[in-house]
Amino acid sequence: MRWGLVGASTIAAEWMIDAIRANGGEIIGVQSGSASHGQEYARQHNIPYSTTELEALLDQQPDAIYISSVNDKHRAQLEAAAKRGIHVLCEKPLAMGLDDAKAMVQVCADNNVRFATNHHLRWAASHQAMRAAIAAGEIGEVRSARVFHAVFLPPHLQGWRIDNPAAGGGVVLDITVHNCDILAYLLGEYPQEVVSMTDHKLFGDKVEDEAMSVWRYPSGVLAYTHESFATPHAGHGIEIHGSEGSLVGESVMSQQPVGRVYLQRNGKREEIELNPHNLYHAGVADFVAAVKESREPACDGIAGTRSLAVALAVLESAAKGKKVTVDYAGV
Ligand code: NDP
Repeated sequence: MRWGLVGASTIAAEWMIDAIRANGGEIIGVQSGSASHGQEYARQHNIPYSTTELEALLDQQPDAIYISSVNDKHRAQLEAAAKRGIHVLCEKPLAMGLDDAKAMVQVCADNNVRFATNHHLRWAASHQAMRAAIAAGEIGEVRSARVFHAVFLPPHLQGWRIDNPAAGGGVVLDITVHNCDILAYLLGEYPQEVVSMTDHKLFGDKVEDEAMSVWRYPSGVLAYTHESFATPHAGHGIEIHGSEGSLVGESVMSQQPVGRVYLQRNGKREEIELNPHNLYHAGVADFVAAVKESREPACDGIAGTRSLAVALAVLESAAKGKKVTVDYAGV
């Protein structure tokens, strides 16, 4: 498949260029708002073409684009590609607002192009093993979940994430969307109401860098999530608790194929064997297969829209100081 990169980003440099090439993809060009940055990026990553103009990249007729620009640019970039029949793998959060994300889903449907959201965690062997254990009834009826996703944002990623609300900065749009998607993957449902608080711990007061929420699901499951950019020593993980047992994923909220999963029952703890693989390779593989098979990707635009809806509800709850019903209207 021939790919165009939209955004000369860190995530593409660290993970996605490799993932595209590992799946047999050819990267034909990159579009960046900065000519000098785009040219240097293309040189560093052996990409034959760089441009500041999105339309010029699309004129090269890629089969697909990978959008990893800042969040407020995603919608317009996706629409330009979809209208030309070009498939889109887009970074999360899909957009700044729900109307934007819904319009993105619609334009892809109207033009019969595949649209995937790059929620990477569901491609981890750890989370796949947890989902299989839940489906096999190993923990009985699921009752609650806890997500610990409080980390220290490394200096090279601080930029717009800590000082630019207009570009989609803040820990909720950055990390809460991932927590929503992985819980949806594990539980098979999305929360109907949320209550949350956010704070500014380390990076000034332009956007929140700390959030805690409680989510209630249609089945009655309660989930607690903690996201942070300002928590250097916590470690990370996820727990799913059921009537017959608990699943504990340690160090599994990662881009790396790392971490351990334990099944705890009756005071005993047994480790579930994992065969780790690269999360981003697996996500791109599903997208490529979806294009070839003319089917929806496993994590499609609707999934990305729902995770955005939850993140926006978390922000609204924190701002209003009260419980909020998640708005899935039209999703
Ligand atoms: P970056 O800050 O690295 O890149 C975002 C944009 O910033 C680039 O597209 C580029 O703009 C501009 N930029 C970056 N470096 C330079 C530079 N040296 N000079 C000029 N401009 C520069 O962001 P990330 O890679 O961290 O995030 C990009 C997207 O990916 C976001 O939507 C984020 O939420 C998502 N993401 C997803 C992850 C996942 O695991 N799914 C992990 C990390 C991020 P231009 O577009 O003009 O080239």
